Amino acid sequence: MNHRLNNEWESVIGLEVHVQLSTNTKMFCSCKWSYGELPNTLTCPRCLGMPGALPVVNKKAIEYAITIGHALNCKIRSETTFSRKNYFYPDLPKGYQISQFNDPICEKGFLQINDSDGIKKIGITRAHMEEDAGKLIHDLGTSSLVDLNRCGTPLVEIVSEPDLRNAKQARQYLDRLKQTIQYTGVSDCDMEKGNLRCDANISVRKKGQKDFGTRTEIKNLNSFRFVERAINYEINRHISLIEDGGKIDQCTMMWDENKGKTYIIRTKEEAHDYRYFPEPDIPPLSISNQLINDIKMTLKELPSDKEKRFVDEYNIKLSDAIIFVKDKKLANFYESICKSSGLPHLASKWILGEVLRLLKEYKITIDECPVSVEQLSGLLKQIDQNVITNANAKNIFNIMIETNDDAVAIIEREGFSLNEYSDSIEEIVLTVFKDNPEEADRFKNGEQKLLGFFMGQVMKITKGRVDPTSVSKIIGKLI
Ligand code: ADP
Ligand code: MG
Ligand code: ZN
Repeated sequence: MNHRLNNEWESVIGLEVHVQLSTNTKMFCSCKWSYGELPNTLTCPRCLGMPGALPVVNKKAIEYAITIGHALNCKIRSETTFSRKNYFYPDLPKGYQISQFNDPICEKGFLQINDSDGIKKIGITRAHMEEDAGKLIHDLGTSSLVDLNRCGTPLVEIVSEPDLRNAKQARQYLDRLKQTIQYTGVSDCDMEKGNLRCDANISVRKKGQKDFGTRTEIKNLNSFRFVERAINYEINRHISLIEDGGKIDQCTMMWDENKGKTYIIRTKEEAHDYRYFPEPDIPPLSISNQLINDIKMTLKELPSDKEKRFVDEYNIKLSDAIIFVKDKKLANFYESICKSSGLPHLASKWILGEVLRLLKEYKITIDECPVSVEQLSGLLKQIDQNVITNANAKNIFNIMIETNDDAVAIIEREGFSLNEYSDSIEEIVLTVFKDNPEEADRFKNGEQKLLGFFMGQVMKITKGRVDPTSVSKIIGKLI
């Protein structure tokens, strides 16, 4: 990447994110919705757009949209309306999508991201409701097939202000948005299943310039990695083009991951005129303050609040808190261990070290961790009480994984307790001196590096089941 972004140019990015709500039924009909069912089995006259079939708003979807609004610090409208967005495409049998235009249910919010130089607030312009289209399947022979199962499933589109300044921030924003919505429980935000889709708007301007440059929009980015790559590619393209005397034409693009390039799908001249107009089949929707407040009360702790609380309550580094909070279940695991062991620092060290290593090695999630909260906190207590050495704690952890026994049982059975030899360390040290008279003399005469040799001998005899600090003290005392 050899663009001059850092010294001369600045990029400006705004994201539009579609999130699919995990309601049981669709936005305007009672069809069940779930991913991966037999094509065209989850449909009815309403979501197929049959003439005369009327939409009925899904209350749960409204509640979920309000939940997202609260999580993104938005104002929630007490009256909101739906509009028709008209266009033709084979996956849209009605010929229009019911969306929101003038008065979105949520607006004027923000989301905080953990940027490298601190917390940055990204404005949320609006979060509105709409219905999804169906799906075209192109890769089965010569013809394309239509699956309308997804038609009419509820979406919330979240539009950010052009507040992001580079691809990394865009990535941080997406990460945080995904976590935040997952924490509220209203969407799985599984990109692979299309629960979360992102369009990126990009422009560049000279540093210090006030006005925004002309933007291009990359549609349908379906992985966070692609988002970053596509944005960086597009920033470079804009800068090179302008530096070569050209100008940016506003257009809509797609990302080709294989070629590592964006390509134009529509120029400004070809831009759709959606002829938005108020949806005549759905009256304006009144939302009571009571409902808005009730939903606010049920909002669970959000990632940014959890991070802050972990730092305050358990006195761990923000960077460590971020790792825990990224996975809600890992955060719960950590917190349960803190509560049951009272050892937040040791718990943090062990989860970030041994536990994450184990999960990675076995390719499992924290739910599937073979070591339970009780078992790990039992082990941490033994470490904290100096019953075992750190090195042996790792051995015990590994035995625990295999045998599913508790720390105390393993320590007893395998004789890992430091207490086992604690009364006889002096005796052992004296024996070692006696067996190695020449080394003992040299050590006595100041050859400090022999301490390691004697430590090694004692460790060998005790099979490492003594506390190294106290052994070294005793060697010093007895020589
Ligand atoms: P549209 O509906 O045509 O996509 P919007 O006004 O809703 O247009 O804007 C879409 C997104 O584009 C928003 O996220 C906004 O922040 C972003 N955006 C607007 N202007 C610019 C710009 N000059 N550079 C980068 N992003 C921009
Ligand atoms: Mg757009
Ligand atoms: Zn239906």
